[in-house]
Amino acid sequence: MAIKLHVRKNDQVEILSGKDRGKRGKVLRMIPDRRRAIVERVNMLKRHTRPNPQQNIKGGVVERESSIDMSNLMIVCPECDKKTRTRRKTLTDGRKVRTCAACEGVIDK
Ligand SMILES: [Zn+2]
Repeated sequence: MAIKLHVRKNDQVEILSGKDRGKRGKVLRMIPDRRRAIVERVNMLKRHTRPNPQQNIKGGVVERESSIDMSNLMIVCPECDKKTRTRRKTLTDGRKVRTCAACEGVIDK
């Protein structure tokens, strides 16, 4: 059974809480089973790596995104640039899209 999710990969989202509150970014990856998502440049974690010459790995600090709970994300409408809830709409060609609850602009291009 598919889980209903309000955000999808490649959506532009805004972070609602936590240290990255107010930041915006693109959803890079979804982890639906855990209801979490990876958002570009959000919730960055520093990982210290040891140098390993055999595998040609340089030591140092690597920053990478860690997952964030989807309940902390809200879609940013590409039309009106506000964070918004989505509605569903079927276009005249039969395509099902999400629209912005504020301006009714189509979010899925
Ligand atoms: Zn809108």
